[in-house]
Amino acid sequence: MKLKIAILAGDGIGPEVTNEAVNILKAVAELGGHDFTFVPLLLGGVAITATGSPLPTATLDAALECDAVLLGAVGDNKFNDLSPDKRPEAGLLQIRQALGGYANLRPSIAYPALAENSPLRPEVTKDANILFVRELLGGLYFGSPRWWNRETTAPGGGEAINTMRYTKAEVVRVARVAFELASKRRKKVTSVDKANVLEVSQLWRAAVTEVGKDYPEVTLEHQLVDSMAMLIMNIPRNFDVVLTENLFGDILSDEAGVITGSLGMLPSATIGGAINLYEPVHGSAPDIAGTGKANPLGAILTAAMVLRHSANLEQDAAAIEAAVGTVLAAGHRTADIARGSATGQHLVSTTEMGKLVHQALAQSIDRRQAMHAV
Ligand code: NAD
Repeated sequence: MKLKIAILAGDGIGPEVTNEAVNILKAVAELGGHDFTFVPLLLGGVAITATGSPLPTATLDAALECDAVLLGAVGDNKFNDLSPDKRPEAGLLQIRQALGGYANLRPSIAYPALAENSPLRPEVTKDANILFVRELLGGLYFGSPRWWNRETTAPGGGEAINTMRYTKAEVVRVARVAFELASKRRKKVTSVDKANVLEVSQLWRAAVTEVGKDYPEVTLEHQLVDSMAMLIMNIPRNFDVVLTENLFGDILSDEAGVITGSLGMLPSATIGGAINLYEPVHGSAPDIAGTGKANPLGAILTAAMVLRHSANLEQDAAAIEAAVGTVLAAGHRTADIARGSATGQHLVSTTEMGKLVHQALAQSIDRRQAMHAV
């Protein structure tokens, strides 16, 4: 398998965690005989320092030549005085838009070894493994008209408007992503809307139901967003793929992040556009940059998503995820997931955590190859 991956490590802890993710991808390539090429490119604060722009044209052009884009994080306090369109984060928004992905995938998994890290009780999070599929290019964040009349003299002192708008085609394409993914998982899609109040949700529900008919092996259920916010916290194990429009998914996927217990553990992918974009959920964490405290597991799990969604290497993706579980079960913890007095835990640095996952991965791939050889 040949894969050319743009590496946009970015700022703060971005390069630290991305380095560990790339090491894992290199290990998969070596162990599996794949040909992966890595193309380092500038984005964010480092790009502003080098070129004056948060997303240099050279970065975008080179990224568009690759099979996948792996991003670390952007954001650097020293650019806080710049206007929003010139800051590091502007580069991130621009590249997301340029790559054009419309389906944002965010897994929320309860690792048994981290059960005590979640604010939810272990018996609640047990066996939770949710994949959010959030529509990313439509809905309230993009619909027009949108405005804020600041100058009004009308009674009431002002008015603002945003528009939640979806075409059937936009719903159908993201629904297909959700059903395809569910058909390879536990075969259940929960579609979230507010169809008891919003016409746009009625269209959403009708379009999703229509797509569902093409996937008879997948169970489809509809939930209203308000009750869904409760159900996710009450019985997260009941959900497999959760399909949402843009705003609802933004809120619910953050809420479900508490199931895993640390921001440093959460991966994401945005698919459906010209090139898939992969990034851990966390930011550049300037408060811990350069200290060796960053948890690289979110970035490493993001690398697993690269293999699953851009290379169809499901076994290798699953092997990385299993290696992360093995390392956690053995008690290794970066500072964000360590619980002070808990026995059997070993505090490790960013690079040590990367090496431990590498070792666990190599052992599991060796075992797999040995089984194939007999
Ligand atoms: P953040 O995610 O960077 O950090 C929030 C908290 O979580 C901090 O205490 C941080 O130390 C901790 N944390 C985050 N990732 C961690 C990891 N991998 N391991 C251990 N601890 C981790 O969010 P923030 O502080 O609100 O933002 C910092 C900068 O990052 C800002 O400039 C912001 O704009 C930017 N940001 C970028 C992205 C992105 O690149 N996708 C996302 C969010 C924020």
